[in-house]
Amino acid sequence: MTKFQCSIAISLVLLQCLAVHVASQSFDFFYFVQQWPGSYCDTQQSCCYPTTGKPAADFGIHGLWPNYNDGSYPSNCDSSSPFNPSEVSDLKSSMQNSWPTLACPSGDGEQFWSHEWEKHGTCSESVLDQHAYFESALTLKQKVNLLQALKSAGITPGGSYSLKSIKDAITEAAGYTPWIECNKDSSGNYQIYQIYLCVDTSGSNLIECPMFPKGTCASEIEFPSF
Ligand code: AMP
Ligand code: AMP
Repeated sequence: MTKFQCSIAISLVLLQCLAVHVASQSFDFFYFVQQWPGSYCDTQQSCCYPTTGKPAADFGIHGLWPNYNDGSYPSNCDSSSPFNPSEVSDLKSSMQNSWPTLACPSGDGEQFWSHEWEKHGTCSESVLDQHAYFESALTLKQKVNLLQALKSAGITPGGSYSLKSIKDAITEAAGYTPWIECNKDSSGNYQIYQIYLCVDTSGSNLIECPMFPKGTCASEIEFPSF
């Protein structure tokens, strides 16, 4: 091989690497994940309210997570793009209301949002910049009022319900099938923890989930009060 041929060969390999790298940063759909604060807080680990006060007794956003159709997902895609509070300062009060931190020690939410942006948001950066990412999640939450959907079906905090009745109530209201993730309260009872809906790659439109996460729920689960 001449020097010239060799450098072409090397360039092709590099280009291929670059293509694989770029492809590995794309994704197929989002999980939009909302969380019942009562079920985060009544576990053995408990919780800490944000410095801004006890969150509303409503579902809060956990995240908007880029995923692949095969069930795997990319994470921490761009270390050169740290969370920048000044890019979302106009959204801050909405984020405090709708995307509350419950981790200990108490904080105002920036650590939680920063974790979500850096782990998940950076993997959809080609579609949604930081402002658009947080705004999309906030808009999605307004589109599907989970608490109202459950209430309309007679499902309210403080009771125990069949998993099927919870799924049906959300399917009816959202028009798409949710995934319900359970955790256990401090006595070991299964309870509704997080609700997953799927969203197309624009971050705007609900879709049927190409793939559901794995997990265990009982057929009858608690919906604890908060
Ligand atoms: P993720 O890494 O986005 O899949 O989210 C999981 C991480 O988020 C775990 O470290 C959880 O403890 C944390 N987490 C979940 N819900 C909350 C919340 N409401 N506030 C703060 N941290 C949370
Ligand atoms: P099973 O009761 O496990 O036979 O599930 C009946 C249907 O509910 C199947 O279509 C499952 O995919 C679905 N399913 C099972 N567990 C959940 C869950 N935690 N959230 C949403 N759907 C579920």
